[in-house]
Amino acid sequence: MAADSSSPARTVPVLVPTPSERPYTYAVSAGVTVRPGSIVQVPLGPRLVPGIVWDAPEGGADEVDPKKLRPIEQAFDCPPVPAGMRRFIDWVARYTLSAPGMVARMVLRAPAAFDPEPPTPGLRITDGRPQRMTAARERVLELAEDGLAWTRSGLAHAAGVSLSVVDGLVKAGSFETIDLPPQPVVAAPDPEFGEGELSPDQQSAADDLRAVVEKGGFSATLLEGVTGSGKTEVYFEAVAAALDKGRQVLVLLPEIALTHAFLERFHARFGAPPAEWHSDLAPKTRERVWRQAADGRVRVVAGARSALFLPFCDLGLIVVDEEHDPAYKQEDRVFYNARDMAVVRAHLGGFPIVLASATPSVETRHNAEAGRYRHVTLDRRFAEAALPDLRAIDMRRTPPARGKFLSPPLQAEIGKTLERGEQALLFLNRRGYAPLTLCRVCGHRFECPDCSSWLVEHRFRGQLMCHHCGHHEPVPEACPQCGTLDHLVACGPGIERIAEEVVGRFPDARAIVLSSDMMGGVKRLRLELEAIAEGQADIVIGTQLVAKGHNFPNLTLVGVVDADLGLASGDPRAAERTFQLLSQVTGRAGRTGKKSLGLIQTYQPEHPAMKAIVTGDGEAFYASQIAERERGQLPPFGRLAAVIVSANTRAEAEAYGRALRAAAPPAGDIMVLGPAEAPLALIRGRHRFRLLVHGTERADLQTYLRRTIAAAPKPRGSVRVSLDIDPQSF
Ligand code: ADP
Ligand code: ZN
Repeated sequence: MAADSSSPARTVPVLVPTPSERPYTYAVSAGVTVRPGSIVQVPLGPRLVPGIVWDAPEGGADEVDPKKLRPIEQAFDCPPVPAGMRRFIDWVARYTLSAPGMVARMVLRAPAAFDPEPPTPGLRITDGRPQRMTAARERVLELAEDGLAWTRSGLAHAAGVSLSVVDGLVKAGSFETIDLPPQPVVAAPDPEFGEGELSPDQQSAADDLRAVVEKGGFSATLLEGVTGSGKTEVYFEAVAAALDKGRQVLVLLPEIALTHAFLERFHARFGAPPAEWHSDLAPKTRERVWRQAADGRVRVVAGARSALFLPFCDLGLIVVDEEHDPAYKQEDRVFYNARDMAVVRAHLGGFPIVLASATPSVETRHNAEAGRYRHVTLDRRFAEAALPDLRAIDMRRTPPARGKFLSPPLQAEIGKTLERGEQALLFLNRRGYAPLTLCRVCGHRFECPDCSSWLVEHRFRGQLMCHHCGHHEPVPEACPQCGTLDHLVACGPGIERIAEEVVGRFPDARAIVLSSDMMGGVKRLRLELEAIAEGQADIVIGTQLVAKGHNFPNLTLVGVVDADLGLASGDPRAAERTFQLLSQVTGRAGRTGKKSLGLIQTYQPEHPAMKAIVTGDGEAFYASQIAERERGQLPPFGRLAAVIVSANTRAEAEAYGRALRAAAPPAGDIMVLGPAEAPLALIRGRHRFRLLVHGTERADLQTYLRRTIAAAPKPRGSVRVSLDIDPQSF
């Protein structure tokens, strides 16, 4: 049209997945229809990238030189990102001090999903009949007789025949191929499917959650119950209530290793599994789950923290299981805690959230006590199952033999457990054989060339490995420093070394070692977990992977090899973490009513975390932790942010850290500490310094940090700055 050059083109802001602070402006060509939330493809430099049509900014759109204005290339036929989700992206960006585009990038992580799903190939019966008839073929034909369409695998499955039988019938002309509408990734869950008996405690907790969901609107509820109290069955009733209302549900889980058992329980309760969402999904499945969460066909997603950024069209409930778990924290690009952001999402969306844990984070516990969160508790284990009897073993009084790590009392209990034909679990949160290897002659220690950490010997693999960057080298025969042969000594225990001790001490027992770096990945891990549950092992030796969510019916002894391991860091959160981890791992014992025991090897039996575990007095422990945080004005009584400066040289990192400190304006309610070397001063060849920004409960750390960064010189060369609001360690 001739008028185009004179009349201004219609423009819209589009948020693209780059580190830009604002949406960019694009022209909308005639014939292209978009509205806020539409997913589009736009040119960006030489590339085409996906983007989200954003809401018009207050005060009007940016002026763009018409000559530079480029048009939207394509609007995808895809449900728009809902307004609530757009507000959430803005909120997360503001809170974490990330570019909104980088948050949008987490939403747009399933590119091929923006196009409509291709039809599913299907089969329909014809009049043609094969020359040779078999019983299997007859079964298939009989099933399809009514003329309804089937998928190839669905038909084979329903008839109980192999795919080749179906293929043979297609070849013989008994079936024609047709296009079926795209199939849902999972069948619809049925809220009434497997309603079971709840214990009276469970029932009242479930009634409470149901009422909250039925009422609707935002609320946060802490569902706190000892391990084995049946929290999952309770929050399933909240899920059922949300489904009854026709709303979608998101259940966040900390680890993929956990999802398998969860999926089975969900299936048993709702007659269909939830859709899964985590980094291990096949790309095709990923795209379909994304699309179907957006168009509403997926009703329930169970996923890792990134599932929080799925564009659900009608989310009505979030459950965060094991809400205290550190795995909810992402420390990469956008630093966020999925538990906290989930609360925000529920708030913005105006729907309830349930946080479940046996050992809540101090922050959540405080929120519940202060009345900001509702608090629902389950105080007893389900059915007749009793909690294990817990005892500390004072390693100063009953030390293990030299070079060994299992104390005499623990060994004796392992022996008794084996005699009874029951299982023992030995827990040590350290992979490999030994955390430190040194030369007996010259004292040379093996250190990672790229990180400030010792190399860990992995004897099964014959390697020295770095647990931070993956660097590995074969275990040498001679010391690289003094050349002495065969003088390398392993210091301290890893689970491989414990396994060696176990095999030496109990040669007839079947031992299994479980850790996240095990060869064979998640699949192998699942098989091993199943084997353990079926009783195919006598002694399980594992890292924190075995601490969580698994049910091993025959397990009656848990031995914690080194309970002090997490306390050495000096981090104020160390006691809390130790309490959580040890509660969780000892909670694996005695799930089916057998008498059970948890033995905790420690050199600090007087430590509050150990005492809380042994006495089972979580109340006193939380009270002391909360009081301690209050005294130090630490979260949740104060606010913290970490600024991490990294660079290729130590000098550059430190210099920029100082420049930031110098640029930080004085403020009454905020204090800047550092720069000091970060807890891991060198990772992958990058030197790291850290500033801690500490404010009162009401301090606006975000604005303060923005100002500081604006006032500091731009980082140059290899210098990078990452911002971590609410850091995990402090
Ligand atoms: P938690 O998550 O609180 O540690 P779980 O939800 O794993 O506890 O429940 C512990 C065990 O009790 C599981 O094996 C679960 O299947 C079983 N269980 C809990 N509630 C019920 C119920 N109402 N009916 C049958 N089994 C139940
Ligand atoms: Zn390394």
